[in-house]
Amino acid sequence: MTRTRTTVAAAVSALALLGAAACGSEEEPATTEGGVELISAGTLTTCTHLPYEPFQFEDGGEIVGFDVDVVDAIAADLGVEQEVIDIPFETIQSGEALNAGQCDLAAAGMTITDVREENMDFSTPYFEATQALITPVGSGLDSADALEGRRLAVQSGTTGAVYAEEQIPGAELVTFEDLALLLTAVESGQVDAAINDNGVLLDYAADNPDLEVTTEFNTGEQYGIGVRTGNTALLEQVDATLARLDDDGSYDEIYTTWFGAAPGEAASAAPTGS
Ligand code: GLN
Repeated sequence: MTRTRTTVAAAVSALALLGAAACGSEEEPATTEGGVELISAGTLTTCTHLPYEPFQFEDGGEIVGFDVDVVDAIAADLGVEQEVIDIPFETIQSGEALNAGQCDLAAAGMTITDVREENMDFSTPYFEATQALITPVGSGLDSADALEGRRLAVQSGTTGAVYAEEQIPGAELVTFEDLALLLTAVESGQVDAAINDNGVLLDYAADNPDLEVTTEFNTGEQYGIGVRTGNTALLEQVDATLARLDDDGSYDEIYTTWFGAAPGEAASAAPTGS
């Protein structure tokens, strides 16, 4: 009896799963008062890839960070709550997750690039970044030339990986799925150095004095929030909130929370966020 019930329950939930997968796009989208369609009523669903401290990472069981605060403000302006889902960066940067309706927007310390512009629509830029190199202190590895014949860690699907492939041909590239694995590889000596965005590497080096950022490559990148191509109503709200955060000083407050100083000022204290 019990056994039968279990079997039936399992069959029903398997069918429900199939149904959800097949009919996901037929579900009535929820529309906010301002006319923005969301994949789930009352919720602004964000795709991101963890961890990418201080932009998005887990702290005490909660997902927090600079991007999380920025998107919380967008959600507040829409009159809804943000929910963050953690998925591979590749499916974010390719536009796949947005197109599949997995989330309303993507906020992942993601650089606006020409290729990505073809796969999604981006907000106005909200953060400046450049590629940087992190190594054990005293390694002397401080340029592309110095990496000749060395093992260099890159993060899958990122602008850092593309930069290394194109501009650091002498290095042996070793690909990692996320930032934590990449940094662990440097710490353990599995690789000689790692390339990634300056914001995350400087943040890590500030807390881990055995590693240092030895150079920046001046790639002149800008982060944008991505929405599904053609989702103009949401994009307009994202841009409106970004403009509001600039105007009312909230952007500088959020920045100071996670970077220890306002934009353009040197950090005098450790960021409160890490
Ligand atoms: N800014 C880089 C990129 O867009 C890295 C982003 C990330 O790893 N979350 O590729």
